[in-house]
Amino acid sequence: MKTPTDRTRLISGATRRGQGRRPVNPPIERASTMLSDRVGDMRDDTLGPTYGLDGTSAARELRAALADLEGAEEVFLVPSGLAAVTVPVMALVRPGDEILTTDACYGPTRRFLSRWMAARGVTVRYHAPDADAEAVAAMISDRTRVVLIESPGSLTFEMLDVARLAEAATARGALTVMDNTWGAGLAYKPLEHGVDVSVQAVTKYVSGHSDVLMGGIAVRDAGIGRAIAETMEDHGWHVSPDDAWLALRGLRTMPLRMKEQARSALTIAAWMQGRPEVSRILYPALPGDTAHDLWARDYSGAASLFGVVMKGMGKVRAEAFLDALSLFGLGYSWGGFESLVTHETHQMAYREGPTALEGELIRISVGLEDPDDLIADLEIGLAAWNASTG
Ligand SMILES: *Cc1c(COP(=O)(O)O)cnc(C)c1O
Repeated sequence: MKTPTDRTRLISGATRRGQGRRPVNPPIERASTMLSDRVGDMRDDTLGPTYGLDGTSAARELRAALADLEGAEEVFLVPSGLAAVTVPVMALVRPGDEILTTDACYGPTRRFLSRWMAARGVTVRYHAPDADAEAVAAMISDRTRVVLIESPGSLTFEMLDVARLAEAATARGALTVMDNTWGAGLAYKPLEHGVDVSVQAVTKYVSGHSDVLMGGIAVRDAGIGRAIAETMEDHGWHVSPDDAWLALRGLRTMPLRMKEQARSALTIAAWMQGRPEVSRILYPALPGDTAHDLWARDYSGAASLFGVVMKGMGKVRAEAFLDALSLFGLGYSWGGFESLVTHETHQMAYREGPTALEGELIRISVGLEDPDDLIADLEIGLAAWNASTG
């Protein structure tokens, strides 16, 4: 039999034979202490963990399923997607080192780099979000320890040639860590393209239901894995069994949710692109997008998250648009079953490079609603944009 696809393996991981009579899903073991029958058993690691910090069964199953999905040697779970970025950076970078990352990196990642890492003697350099791999590689210096990749970039969705960048970084002796939340380990698998550490906010598509905060860190090299394991151990980081259980439940259906949400997102993005109020859509999956060719080459699917640059500025008009919507939730985050919309223009101020967009920046995360209903809602929002004099 040929190797089953991701969609099958994410489910067959639950039904595999040889484990005795049991529920389909692992029990939620709420435990700090795990008891042993005999004192000798307390030192026998083959009997399972002796303390909750070492992970209970739902976390173990989630780690194994994510490792299988990402083609990883090992996956670590941390309390948020942000921690999935910060933990490997803390594990791999030392004072005096330099980090190279995109000017379009996730905002809290930038805050961590410029506050926590800078205070510990680490220099951060930013490259243009749409730079080609050679231009980024040319910025790698002898001090560059980590190239922190984010593709597509947050808010503006530029894509990098990750495989070429990873190859160049490796040749220069730098490690690569990629925030792959948009690719979710499903539409894109960084480890297969030469990246050393693939991280994602499990909060988004894996959990899929806006009820869990978690991060996943996938590695293929045992030495890097050890550095991350020790950093987690030294800080005492851990995820709760309830959260691991919820994330595992979400993971089983992620391929179907993501595929359907991306399909709706493409429909809605194409519709928005045809509207006179809209200047540009920022969505690599949309034909004509500047990153479309790279996306088509490297990705087997897409997230349902994209940007909309309106024609013209006007905070009041943008707020009138968003306030007029009734089906889109006003809320941060993405990848859940529900559609969300945010106004992002002010976030661009944090960038180093040229940031001037020609209009207000709106971000849309498309959920599982009927796309026709969502379009009808957006039509009402655009009417409010037009009616606003702000
Ligand atoms: C949301 C997000 C994160 C952080 O996830 P949290 O679980 O909210 O901390 C990291 N990277 C990207 C690109 C994100 O969009």
